[in-house]
Amino acid sequence: MAKAVGIDLGTTNSVIAVVEGGKPDVIVNSEGTRTTPSVVAFKGAERLVGNIAKRQAAMNATNTFFEVKRFIGRRWDEVREEAGRAPFKVVEGPNGGIRIETTDGLKAPEEISAMVLRKMVDDASAKLGYTVTDVVITVPAYFDNTQREATAAAGKIAGLNVLRIINEPTAAALSYGLDRKGNETILVFDLGGGTFDVTILEIGDGVFEVKSTNGDTHLGGADFDQRIVKWLAGEFEKENKFDLRKDPQALQRLIEAAEKAKIDLSSANETTISLPFITFDPETRTPMHLEKKLTRAQFESLVGDLIERVRKPVLQALEDAKLSAAKIDEVILVGGSTRVPAVKALVQSLLGKTPNESVNPDEAVALGAAVQAGILSGDSSVGDIVLVDVTPLTLGVEVKGGVVAPMITRNTAVPAKRTEVYTTAENNQPGVEINVLQGERTMANDNKSLGRFKLEGIPPMPAGVPQVEVTFDLDTNGILKVSAKEKSTGKESNIRIENTTTLGKDEIDRMVMEAEQNAEADKLRKEKVEKRNALDALRLSAEKALSESGSAPQDLKDKVQQLSDKAREAVQTEADDATIESAQKQLEEALQELMQANAATQPSNSSDDASTSEAKKDDDVVDADFKPAG
Ligand code: AMP
Repeated sequence: MAKAVGIDLGTTNSVIAVVEGGKPDVIVNSEGTRTTPSVVAFKGAERLVGNIAKRQAAMNATNTFFEVKRFIGRRWDEVREEAGRAPFKVVEGPNGGIRIETTDGLKAPEEISAMVLRKMVDDASAKLGYTVTDVVITVPAYFDNTQREATAAAGKIAGLNVLRIINEPTAAALSYGLDRKGNETILVFDLGGGTFDVTILEIGDGVFEVKSTNGDTHLGGADFDQRIVKWLAGEFEKENKFDLRKDPQALQRLIEAAEKAKIDLSSANETTISLPFITFDPETRTPMHLEKKLTRAQFESLVGDLIERVRKPVLQALEDAKLSAAKIDEVILVGGSTRVPAVKALVQSLLGKTPNESVNPDEAVALGAAVQAGILSGDSSVGDIVLVDVTPLTLGVEVKGGVVAPMITRNTAVPAKRTEVYTTAENNQPGVEINVLQGERTMANDNKSLGRFKLEGIPPMPAGVPQVEVTFDLDTNGILKVSAKEKSTGKESNIRIENTTTLGKDEIDRMVMEAEQNAEADKLRKEKVEKRNALDALRLSAEKALSESGSAPQDLKDKVQQLSDKAREAVQTEADDATIESAQKQLEEALQELMQANAATQPSNSSDDASTSEAKKDDDVVDADFKPAG
């Protein structure tokens, strides 16, 4: 039976895992690695995902898309600055949303993420031997409603059945706590490529209860890289009067080198960043090179203020959980950026405890997601586990004077439902507009508006008389549904959402269809390439057979040579399928004839010398290649 899997859809890398025999395990991708870069590239008609996309990034900078998670479910005005730093083009989309410019048209971040998800699941299906469709996807605990919905939409666009969206630190705690006995209070500190989360949980007797969560969805290792990029580009500009950031290819190389230097500095005290031929002098057209030393101390001063930013969310999470640092039994580090020594040191000084490094920071989240997938799909081998998670941010409505009336406060366990009755502020008010807000600030304008709902058709009544019942229903994915009902008429039909940046149902349906069509087109493209490769391999075999066919009839050799030339041309000109297939068939037949002739004219197998066994081995190669492909 097909199992449900867990996917950690990371800013930088993604990981997929499944429970086998009661234990979660990472599924390696088709390239044989346990993590897959969350990178997508368009190259002509081809679409590349993962390692292969990452590897060609510098050569194809404007068409290689990474860290797209920073944009998912966000508004254009929230990410304008970040968008400007990417080597690819990010533009404002419909309703203040975000679109990414690709050679295949404008794409929503959800669509790019769907491509990463699709690859992860396709590779997993191939490894597991069944088609995976049910998935649990993780998101940073501090993701708001729109970001969660957008992540769920990415899963849907990828053709997946998203069983649940769960919080990354909660998932990490699940993988950490699976084998633990006894009660413990743990703090999961998760600093990844683009986001920071801190979550405090109590675990014991199979119950994982989140007490509080906090974080910063704009803070991660990629920000450290950007600081190094800025410094490098600044130094280079000082010396050469040329801003490397204006050249997308140079910028992409700078970003890669910065990340590498940062990673080096987690274990070394000093590193050299060397980028020969980084650009050309615009006047003299001579090549320019970059070479710089960076010490750990310098790096720490470049990113010191960023690292300091983790302090406040940690203290807030402790306060919300009503705990002092001394009450935390274990501190678990998750996310690649916790390998930075200065990050570890700050955590240690903040919490007065050496962090527990027993979990693999790259894999813990996916492993926990797999456990949750197992629980949700009724896999009894996982054991009895109950997960109680919380909502990271307060949800409320705007009331008179632009003030927020909270409905579900932050750190409330999910699912949660609350109904409140509101009334009108004016006499004979025909309708009310409900502005749904998320955030901790008291004034509506300072929080994120998730959408506006209008309830119309209220019969004429004095101010304060109508009773409008507003219900907030927050599901286990942390996704909110809001309804409003006017009690005297029972009317709730005129509700409509405006001003949301997430994709509408029609758009998602269209993207699902496009993704399916693309998958079909990709398959056809792959088949075409395979056919071409098979013909080329056959041609090489033919050339080899010709070179060894001393005594075969000349007319037969000429025929094989001609057909081999024809095959070469068909491959080189990327001829249509019919031409490739016919060239394959003709060459196969002629080659068969030639090989029979060769066999007939060769002295029958004698045994003694190495050259015979060599020739035999070669024949085997020809035979193996000779099979029609596919
Ligand atoms: P994640 O989102 O958990 O995959 O974390 C990815 C981030 O961790 C990226 O910004 C990486 O550059 C960063 N990272 C990975 N390994 C290290 C390391 N050894 N030292 C510093 N940062 C690292």
